[in-house]
Amino acid sequence: MEAKVAGSASMSLGDEIVRRINALAAISETSEHLTRIFLTPEHRAAADLLMTWMREAGMQAHLDAIGNVCGRYEGERPGLPCLMLGSHYDTVRDAGRWDGPLGLITAISCVGDLNRRGRRLPFAIEVTGFADEEGVRFASTLLGSRAIAGTFDESALGSRDRAGTTMRQALTLFGLDPDHIGAAARAPGELLAYVELHIEQGPVLEAEKLPVGVVTAISGATRLAVELRGMAGHAGTVPMALRRDALAGAAECIVAIEEFCCTDRDGLVGTVGYINAMPGATNVIPGMVSFTIDIRTAKDSYRKLAVADIVRQIEEIVKRRNLKLDINVTHENRTVPCAPWLKQQVADAVAAEGFHVFELPSGAGHDGMAMIDIADVAMLFVRCRGGVSHHPDEHVEDADADAGARVLLRLIENFKPKA
Ligand SMILES: [Zn+2]
Repeated sequence: MEAKVAGSASMSLGDEIVRRINALAAISETSEHLTRIFLTPEHRAAADLLMTWMREAGMQAHLDAIGNVCGRYEGERPGLPCLMLGSHYDTVRDAGRWDGPLGLITAISCVGDLNRRGRRLPFAIEVTGFADEEGVRFASTLLGSRAIAGTFDESALGSRDRAGTTMRQALTLFGLDPDHIGAAARAPGELLAYVELHIEQGPVLEAEKLPVGVVTAISGATRLAVELRGMAGHAGTVPMALRRDALAGAAECIVAIEEFCCTDRDGLVGTVGYINAMPGATNVIPGMVSFTIDIRTAKDSYRKLAVADIVRQIEEIVKRRNLKLDINVTHENRTVPCAPWLKQQVADAVAAEGFHVFELPSGAGHDGMAMIDIADVAMLFVRCRGGVSHHPDEHVEDADADAGARVLLRLIENFKPKA
């Protein structure tokens, strides 16, 4: 009986979610491309629309000190700790419409469904639209969730965007007080858990022919900057045996990284995404090359071993080729495991909706990476077409948006705080 009620109510949920995804996608810097950057006028307009939907869903809604959209649906009595749901409402440049908004809008629509049925739960539900996850404007990510987790670095207020505007100025223009970011921080006791629904942004669920997947962890990442120095020289006069070609050395390093990661132990992935060769002329042997390495896997200990192994291989190549090496870690974040007790409830909701329970790690970063500091975290992935994301072709089928909503609604209604 209960399944029937949830099922019939959610048939319209999927339609409502897709309509709202499209309405939110129309709020953009330009009409041809979807771009909605932190603390811009379109960012503010999107926040207002989200708060309107939250209020229609029976929530109280406000903007917090960093620009997060915060909605609250009281439980059986006012003031109870909350199950927090959410995702981000900023975008990359020329973005897709689903990355971020799907999780946020689905959460609002699920609360709206509870509200229409007059359903109150033994806990409050809060839906948070994080103001900045992508980090496009000020080159530091997770600003919204860090403010909520109380880990916002106030020195970031002085950072400038490309136009020279500081974050402090941008917050003021948006109507917020940069001296009170701390007010956005929540106490751990106010949150029972944080659950985020998000598009997968990869091709695994599509390959598995499944609409949803249960996330095991948000993979940690290590980024390195590598510089190889050899000797520039005339492409016609220096014999091959006497060359110290930095680009040929880099090529060997790149292939070695790929081969190492292709062993696919623990989902290890490695990418060289940027390379620059100097002096960069057709008839000059490259004397200096810089490139980046991005290494990810959901096991921190294995990632560290892999990075050490890759560095050792690069050192060997460089030595054999008589090059000079400068290699530095530029970024490192730890793996954020989804809490087993909470992940189990997500899996139970997936199974109860009749889907095969399939677990996968998240190779992409999410707000949960910051939220872990104040709450246990879990995530539900929804299949996206071709695994394409951060691109206008990003797409989720209506039926999959509906499947995600049904699972999330069931999770909410059956949610039990950690014993
Ligand atoms: Zn996202």
